[in-house]
Order: sequence, then C-alpha cells, then structure tokens
Amino acid sequence: MAGEICCKIDVHSVTKYFPSPGISFLQPPPHGPETSRFSVPNAVDDQSNLSSNEQAASKHLKDIHMSGCLMEDFLTAARENTEKNLETCGVLGAFLKDGTFYVTTLIIPKQEATSNSTHPSQSCFMSSIDLHTQYTYQVMVPEAVGIVMAPTDHSRKCGIFRLSDPDGMSILRECHETGFHTHRETSNGSPIYEDSTNIIFNPNLRLEIFDLREVVPPL
Ligand SMILES: [Zn+2]
Repeated sequence: MAGEICCKIDVHSVTKYFPSPGISFLQPPPHGPETSRFSVPNAVDDQSNLSSNEQAASKHLKDIHMSGCLMEDFLTAARENTEKNLETCGVLGAFLKDGTFYVTTLIIPKQEATSNSTHPSQSCFMSSIDLHTQYTYQVMVPEAVGIVMAPTDHSRKCGIFRLSDPDGMSILRECHETGFHTHRETSNGSPIYEDSTNIIFNPNLRLEIFDLREVVPPL
C-alpha cells in the first residue's frame, strides 16, 4: 500500500448521528487498470492450488473493491487502543454497482474496548466471537468479510476472512454458545473459515472514516 495514495482520503469529524449526509453521498465507482488483488500472506495465491469446490465457491461471489489505505487508516485509528493491548472494532460499509461491491466507508462505533479477544497482542485469527459476528453478516450478504488486524503478529498482520460455505456456515448456524468457545470440526475436515479470494485493492477508491467515538451526544 503506497503512502501517497493516502492523501485522497477524506477523514470527517462527525458532528451528528445517522443519517449523515456524508454517508448517503457516494461518488460513482472509479474504473482503472491500477487495481490489485489482495494476496494472502504466507499463502499461495495460485488459483490452481484451490480445490474445485473452493473455486466454485469463490466464483459465485461478487468482487469487493477496497481502498488501498483501508488497513493502514484503521490501524492509525486503533493505535491508541493497540498500545494498551485493547481491541478496536470497525464496521465496513459498501455499495453495490454493476455486480461489484465497493467499500467506501469505515465506521468506528462507540465501544467499550476490551482485551478479552486479544487480537492486538496475539495472532491473526478469528475468535469464536468473531465467527459468530461474521455469521450474522454473511447470512445476509454472502460477500461479507471480516478483517482481522493483529499488528504485533510478525508472521501475519492481517487477514480478510469469510466462513466457509456451506461447512463453516452450518456449524455457526447450529451453534448457540456465547462467549469464547470451541467449534466442532467440519464433517470433511475443511477449515471453518477461509481467506477471501474476491478482494481487489483499488487505489482510486475513496474511503470515508466516521469515528463515532469522538461524537458528543446531543443534549
Ligand atoms: Zn459458536
């Protein structure tokens, strides 16, 4: 991710709650040759190494374009928490146009930061709580992804994940546990979640960040 493209980012200080005119205003998506697919660290991105099932599963998913600055900007917003070993949560907003999703909004809601799930200080993985959160989004939008950033994990600092479908999705659908717990293996031994293969980093795509932690509620 090149630093110079970050100058295109508009960071808004939000002064009121939803609906925000900033969120409802979306520029037409850019089209250009400078996009690049998200490559998975420590993994082979050669599609030929995917099983035919995985290829079939990834083929029916729409592509998701993301700003090249998304990860860095989120880490910047999270830095204060990360230094205290606290987790920071953000929600991505996207719009759908011509069969492609464009992620143009990062919302950092008001939150009580906890160190319970320890992503800032440990490795890049999806906890059981993350998996249940991911399920609630993915059951509505099959393309929904969960981004995990673990800045102190030297082997892998970030992952863009989704539940495997149908195996991981059925395990989460049937699980009614809360808190941290373990999930049973899938029937065929495949992973419960996997790297998303339909992510394209688009340096021309703008990103708006709404950090609601700084909002003073109206009287
Ligand atoms: Zn569960």
